[in-house]
This record gives sequence, C-alpha cells and structure tokens, in this order.
Amino acid sequence: MKYGVISDIHGNCEALERVLGFLNQEKVERIINCGDIVGYGPRPNECVRKVKNCTEMRSVLGNHDFAVLGMAKLSRFNAAAADSLQWSRQKMVADNIKFLNTLEKIDTESGFLFLHGSPRSPLDEYILGETHAKANFERFKNFLCFAGHTHVPACFRRDSKGNVGSLRLSPGRPVELEEDCRYIFNAGSVGQPRDGDPRACCLIYNTQNRKVQLYRFRYDIEKVQGLMRRQKLADFLIARLARGI
Ligand code: ZN
Repeated sequence: MKYGVISDIHGNCEALERVLGFLNQEKVERIINCGDIVGYGPRPNECVRKVKNCTEMRSVLGNHDFAVLGMAKLSRFNAAAADSLQWSRQKMVADNIKFLNTLEKIDTESGFLFLHGSPRSPLDEYILGETHAKANFERFKNFLCFAGHTHVPACFRRDSKGNVGSLRLSPGRPVELEEDCRYIFNAGSVGQPRDGDPRACCLIYNTQNRKVQLYRFRYDIEKVQGLMRRQKLADFLIARLARGI
C-alpha cells in the first residue's frame, strides 16, 4: 500500500494541485491529510472543495480549521494569522464549514496515527525537537505517527531501548523503517513551508518496502502572491511564501 501524506495546505490551491497531481501520478492508494486546510492563503473554499472531493483522502482537523469554525479564540494567534483567519471565516461557504465540522482531531483507522500537532495535544503542540518527540512517544502505542503544524518536515525515531533521535529527511533520501523502532514524521507544509525552502512538501509512505520519502515541488508562487495581494492579506504572509519561512 502506498500512502501520500500531506499537511498545512493553508488555502494555497496552486501548491495543492501540484502535490495532488504528483500523488496521482505515483498512484498512491490513500492520502493522509494532517490538517490546516485553511488560514493564511487566498483560496480556502477551493482547497476545502478539493479535499472533500478527493475520495481517497482522509483528513484531520488543524488549529486553523478549528479557528475558522469559530471554536478557537483568535487572540491566540499572531496578528497576521488572526486577520487571515477572520478573512477566511467570512469567505467560507456553508457546505465547506459543514465538511470541516466533520473532521476528527485524531485518526487511527489505517493502523498508524495521524493528527495535526502532537499525540498529547492534537491541535496545538509543535513537535520541535527530540525532547518534545520523546514525551509524545509515551502518549501513543502505534509504531508510526504522522503530524504537521510546524511546517517543517522532520523524522524522529525511538528505538527499543527508548532512545529518541532525529533522522535526516530530505528528497532522494528515503527513511527505511526498522522493525523494532517507532517513528514520528512531520509532513512539512503544502501551502506555506517554513524550513527555508519555499517548495511544497509531501511524503510517500510505502508499506511494502517500509520506506518514507520526502518530495518537494516548485509551483507558481507569484500567482498565489498576486491573489493574496488582491484580497489585501498581510504583506508578511505574502512575502514569506517566496522565502519559505
Ligand atoms: Zn499550519
């Protein structure tokens, strides 16, 4: 079985189309979406529609999705994020709100775990390093967990003795899953990567050869920036897309 793993689309339809085109070409059978379909980007409705219409995709709720549903206080976000959330909330059509409302915070149906933030705080915690990863390995039993939220692709491994370390995750260098280890992967971000590389991210998890690989894609960033300008979204959000920060 081949899974595509994506996260943090953030209303960026151009990046999403690019990634879905690749996953389709790779003939993945399932797509796992770790949340934050909306927020920041200029096309929240189109992105929700694409996710909703993709029958092979399973999604969980992200903190921005939660906020657009009116369930989180906007004061918890920085000013630019709060503005974009308010704008997204006004734009969302009823059908798409209804869809976001169906999403769960954690999904374990495929035998592994996937969620937006972390196992101990599915919407809000950032797994930023080995200390966070170690604490979170205690909070779930599955051998594998996929998350997003940081917008930075990452891989943490816990060996049978309980040692936790991070592994390099870069395009062309698949991580081979060892039998007696457990893993937390971060799928990075489709629509707003923050690791200094502006290219859209996704992972492919192949259960047959037990490999997880990161892929990056160029897409038309200037087009997205133009749409954001037209909607008068914050300059900082527009600029960061091209810099990958
Ligand atoms: Zn996000």
